[in-house]
Amino acid sequence: MSTTADPLTIEAFTAESFSAPEPFTRFCNNGGKPLGGIIGGEEVPGSMNAIFDVINPGTKEILATVSEMGYDEVNDAVAAGYRAFHGGWKNTSVEERIDLMMKLVDLLERDKKLLLACEILNGGKVSELAHGDLTHFKSCADYFSSVARTVNFGDGGVMSVNNGQDAYTFIEPWGVVAGIVPWNYPVVLTAWFMVPALLAGNCVLLKPSEETPLSALYIGKLAEEAGFPAGVINVLPGRGELTGKFISEHPGIRFIGFTGSPGVGQAILNAADKHGTRVKREMGGNGSALVLPDADPQLVARMIGKNANQHYGQTCSTIHRVYAHKEVYDDFLGATEEFMSNLKIGNQAEAGTQLGPVINSRQPQRIVQGIENAKANGASTILSGGRTTVEGSDGYYLKPTLLTSEPGSRSNPQEVFHCFVNVQKVESVEEALGYANDTHYGLGSSVWTPDLERGAQIAKQFRDGTGQVNCHNTVAYGLPYGGMGISGGPGAGVNCEETIRDYLQVKSIFVAPYPG
Ligand code: NAD
Repeated sequence: MSTTADPLTIEAFTAESFSAPEPFTRFCNNGGKPLGGIIGGEEVPGSMNAIFDVINPGTKEILATVSEMGYDEVNDAVAAGYRAFHGGWKNTSVEERIDLMMKLVDLLERDKKLLLACEILNGGKVSELAHGDLTHFKSCADYFSSVARTVNFGDGGVMSVNNGQDAYTFIEPWGVVAGIVPWNYPVVLTAWFMVPALLAGNCVLLKPSEETPLSALYIGKLAEEAGFPAGVINVLPGRGELTGKFISEHPGIRFIGFTGSPGVGQAILNAADKHGTRVKREMGGNGSALVLPDADPQLVARMIGKNANQHYGQTCSTIHRVYAHKEVYDDFLGATEEFMSNLKIGNQAEAGTQLGPVINSRQPQRIVQGIENAKANGASTILSGGRTTVEGSDGYYLKPTLLTSEPGSRSNPQEVFHCFVNVQKVESVEEALGYANDTHYGLGSSVWTPDLERGAQIAKQFRDGTGQVNCHNTVAYGLPYGGMGISGGPGAGVNCEETIRDYLQVKSIFVAPYPG
């Protein structure tokens, strides 16, 4: 491959030193009370008297205590949502909704440091990635503002049908919709749900993950300051099996936008289907990367390594499976080992950290089990992974895992959700494509080659929502981000024109002449 790029300039996402700003500590402390949910513009403690701790996974320090929302609070939030909807929100113009959204964007920018603290200290993310995440709210708001301006809300054009009947479509928001989001990209995924839902004219219930609820609770507070009427944005913290379950079982919620794991997505779909609530799901992946014989193995190993380690592999379409052509396999494997073994493991708030803690006490056991399963299914160890410690930080730390195995062996676990790469040597692109597509997941895969035309042809053959050439974990507003197979559906995905349709109901209206 003729390239001028210096592979050594490609580094993993890296931390700058970060400490809790005073407003973050004050927000978490909440005057000595647990942080409540936000319902109808009020902070509510919850009727169950249940609270849970929110921690820093790098140190296990308790950052805040949060009240868990029960059935009564879900019910109250639905009622508050409808009061706000019928009390005026449904009659707001798109421009009024955009104005409020842009005020919220400004306040998020003003309080960026506090939100960074949520992502870094609670989410366990390195600052380089956290900074990038915070830019999403504005980009998402800008994009969906332009989309919302093109929607023909209300009556469509009249057609004459069936011997003189007038008929037309009528488009309106659902009313009250819910978003249930995971812990790994809290601000980004809050934006992906909330922005199109609100701009379409709905009132929202937002259920953040019990692991990372702080940014959603803070955004709920800012929404009030921005001027959103009480009840338009309600935030319901709590465990999935409790608060989340009550949301999915509530017949008053017309639509649920879910992002999370396939198993939970299926449970929500089953619960919501009993009362006809629509559900759209964006779920996990088991991403693959194909390294073609004309790729520079040193360069591509670092690019793939960087993506495999994005948020330490806790990214939905992260690369766990690599199919490297036999002509570059040895060099690629050597360069990947070098890159991964040099990742700096450490506290996510300390300068230079590239591989920080996993999110909670359950993950290390799950990840170690995934590595053991891979080995039991024939994988050989290059970098063994497993638990490790970081001096001065009592968090949930693991080493990176690099394995090799025979092509076609069943040594690729489902989503490991850590920096875990299993490399297989393949004879041809066709063989690699067959293995890449031999999974129930279908979120994102990539091919790495200087031949962009050939790369694009191969990318189109992935059975994934996103096919990529020389990049991975990519998103862009205006292009659908969605999954095939158990990774998501129905429809195109989030962040495209079609997404706003998810938040609208379309009716056909027929008007026949009165006889006589
Ligand atoms: P999860 O499925 O465990 O939880 C997601 C959300 O669902 C949380 O808010 C949780 O409290 C809630 N929940 C859990 N059980 C529930 C139930 N029975 N009823 C209702 N709600 C319930 O996922 P997670 O561990 O928070 O996040 C990781 C997963 O999310 C991975 O699978 C990852 O790939 C996926 N993910 C997908 C995307 C995407 O855009 N496709 C983006 C980020 C993460």
